[in-house]
Amino acid sequence: MDIERQASTQSITEVCQNLTVNADQGLTIAQVEQRQQRYGLNQLQKVKGRTLWQILIDQFKSPIIGLLAIAALLSFAFQEWIEGIAILIAIALNAGIGFITEIKAVHSMEALQKLTQTYATVRRVGRITSVNTEELVPGDIVLLEGGDLVPADLRLLESSKLQADESALTGESLPVSKDSRQVEANLPLAEQKNLLFKGTAITRGSGMGVVIATGMRTELGKISKLMAEAEAEVTPLEKRLEQLSQRLIGLTLILSVFVAIAGILGGQELFLMVETAIALAVAVIPEGLPIVATVALARGMWRMAQRNALMNRLSAVETLGATNIICTDKTGTLTANRMTLTQIALGEEAFTVTGQGLEQQGAFLQQEEAVNPSQHNTLQALLTVAVLCNNATLPSANDQDALIGDPTEVALLIAGAKAGLDRHQLLKNLPEIREVAFDSESKRMATIHQADDWDYPFVGSIESTEGSYLVAVKGALETVLPLCSHYLVAQEERSLTHKIRKQWRDRAHNMATDGLRVLSLAYKVVDHPDSEPYENLVWLGLVGLLDPPRLEVKEAIEDCHQAGIRVIMLTGDQPVTARKIGIAVGLITDENIPIPQGETLEHLEQLSESEQQQLLQVPIFARVTPEQKLNLITLHQRHQAIIAMTGDGVNDAPALKKADIGIAMGERGTQVAKESADMILQDDAFSTIVIAIAQGRTIFNNIRQFTLYLLSGNVGEIIAVAITSFVGAPLPILPLQILFLNAVNDVFPALALGAGEGNANVMNRPPRNPAEPILSRHYWFLIGIYGVIIAATVVGIFAIALQVLNLPLDQAVTISFLTLAFARLWHVFNMRDHESGLFRNEITVNPYIWGALGICLALLLLATYTPGLSTVLALVHPGVQGWTLILAASLIPLFWGQFLKRWL
Ligand code: ADP
Ligand code: MG
Repeated sequence: MDIERQASTQSITEVCQNLTVNADQGLTIAQVEQRQQRYGLNQLQKVKGRTLWQILIDQFKSPIIGLLAIAALLSFAFQEWIEGIAILIAIALNAGIGFITEIKAVHSMEALQKLTQTYATVRRVGRITSVNTEELVPGDIVLLEGGDLVPADLRLLESSKLQADESALTGESLPVSKDSRQVEANLPLAEQKNLLFKGTAITRGSGMGVVIATGMRTELGKISKLMAEAEAEVTPLEKRLEQLSQRLIGLTLILSVFVAIAGILGGQELFLMVETAIALAVAVIPEGLPIVATVALARGMWRMAQRNALMNRLSAVETLGATNIICTDKTGTLTANRMTLTQIALGEEAFTVTGQGLEQQGAFLQQEEAVNPSQHNTLQALLTVAVLCNNATLPSANDQDALIGDPTEVALLIAGAKAGLDRHQLLKNLPEIREVAFDSESKRMATIHQADDWDYPFVGSIESTEGSYLVAVKGALETVLPLCSHYLVAQEERSLTHKIRKQWRDRAHNMATDGLRVLSLAYKVVDHPDSEPYENLVWLGLVGLLDPPRLEVKEAIEDCHQAGIRVIMLTGDQPVTARKIGIAVGLITDENIPIPQGETLEHLEQLSESEQQQLLQVPIFARVTPEQKLNLITLHQRHQAIIAMTGDGVNDAPALKKADIGIAMGERGTQVAKESADMILQDDAFSTIVIAIAQGRTIFNNIRQFTLYLLSGNVGEIIAVAITSFVGAPLPILPLQILFLNAVNDVFPALALGAGEGNANVMNRPPRNPAEPILSRHYWFLIGIYGVIIAATVVGIFAIALQVLNLPLDQAVTISFLTLAFARLWHVFNMRDHESGLFRNEITVNPYIWGALGICLALLLLATYTPGLSTVLALVHPGVQGWTLILAASLIPLFWGQFLKRWL
């Protein structure tokens, strides 16, 4: 059955018949199960990741393994069998650890991807439910509205003003209109206007369709088959670490050759020196850095997810840490988005409304006197419009949480309920014919209702019209008042004079000064359902909605300021409301500060440099459209800002993409916004952004820490070996010992550092300059100093053991090797932030560090005392004297490290 092909040319009845589904009921559970068996999950074939086998093989492609292989071959050539086998084991260990780390990284990435599921609204067994898009099957009835992503290929059954952005599929960037009419055969995809395709986005309107194809059978599936397999994302950070490793490889090779030559000239054995050179090279090249960084990033993402911040990209974690500006919405992000209608301005009267939040009981007070709304015609007219021009539904008595819709609109419904007006009841007499949807560009919406025989509370000229359609309008004052020619007062429609208009603007201003969100309401009666809704309206009045700031926001904004991050509020609301909220959350302190409107963000290219500078300083913009948001981002980015920007609507998608970190709202956001974003706030809360930034900074610090840790220890080794070979002394550490330290002992503390949770100080500093390298000059300096201290300690101890204590060479080497190993372990405590406490700091509270130290100590003891292993590593019992020396000496670098922190 080739339903996909024919669906567009068939009638709705035929399509539904072919798919054996009743559009009013949807599929039955049995049908769904049966079709899931048959068609599988509605998902595109996963881009095939590398197989385990390939990951394993890739481990052998590193230059390190190459070097080790040469060393092994040389050993066998010189008939050093034990050496050769030991090096082979080192190769296996090196590859094994790389393999396990990489698998772990892949697994955590997969687990994170599972967190971002999408859901579709579906009718099944006669009920509307939300279903994971993967579980859709052909025949499912899907409901869509503006902002949704199309979950599968659909044939439309119903639509209203539906438009879709199909650029993902056709490359056409303008939205195309869609409807359910049958089309002729053999049209190209783009002209099959009654089909919606998986992966495209609904930009406006609403519709209902039946699924005709899922998964790989969709049009998107067909083309994605042709796509080459995408490589997993490599973050800029990993790239930089990669470059760092590359650069070190060259440097190390040169150094190693020098060491080898010096040693040979100094009388050391040829084979020993070649092997040492190779071991040093292997030890110093931090080939594990990129993958350890991936593990650290993935872990960080996981931790963020647990605190309600879902990251869509690994590299976003890194950018987040460098963010220096957050542009945020007001409603719902800074405020609780729990609106209550508290004030009404009507004709020459004003009312306050009592009853908190979702309570459906309350009174309408006029100068402290309760008014019965059903006795007050104009009040009832206003509330009727508020309830009709609405897309929300009230929570039912038994399920208080099941609020559906925009909180602004829910608040209007609740106010209506307080006056005994119920939307469903009203719609029986006034069925809705069509809707002109709200969008943040126009800031208004309208519904048109059939009004043949009804008992309307409206008065004045309406009674004399022949009209039988009611137009109900609500929106921002600036966008509604100009559309009105009359206003309703004392039960008559009077002409709106200049003076009266001014009075209304003042009344709106006063309400907003109290921090209320102000909406205006208007209506008219017309005789044709298709007549233009936005003209000749009758003005009804204003309502003021209270939306308190979220409690934790003030503190979070303080944290941002402390952390050198600027917060800019961009709201569609009016300047006065914005200012009031701005003060409440501590964004501004000055009551009189002017709040510019979004218009100032147009034609930026015509502004002078100083005017642009002024705009850059503005903390709040009111009446901003999504396009103006985009302009502001561009302006800031031109001035070296790393911007995080919040958004929820379809129109916000371009700004979310343009921002360095696009943040979509998990609860309130549309699917399109979520898809364009780098991060999804599951709780919509501003403070979650701040938590995520702190995490981002911590992760970057961690990566820096373990890079510093690994390199300084390695540099210590190379210096120690270089000095001794230059002076012609025996080597304080032998090649296999170096390999042992590198392959086994380093890894655990480094991974533990990567998993650290950081400390509170991260948010007391300005953001990092994104252009700054991972290892700035300061860090290279530290690497050098630590390296010298470690090397001096090891060589000094070696000299004491040989010259002062006259110990045999193998015992002296054991002592210097263990001193080095232990010194490197304690060195991990030098990685603490210089501002954190000596004993209680981010290192000592990190349980992984203690675990890593435990493992490493055990391994070192095993290496020293296990017969066989100790022979291979040329280790002997160091003796009590030896142990005392090792323990004391290995603390020297730790001591110096802590001392230096005081100084630098
Ligand atoms: P924000 O979310 O920043 O407060 P919006 O774009 O949601 O801004 O709203 C901007 C303005 O549009 C509001 O001040 C209000 O006047 C008007 N408005 C908001 N929601 C609606 C709606 N559902 N219907 C009509 N007008 C609305
Ligand atoms: Mg809004």
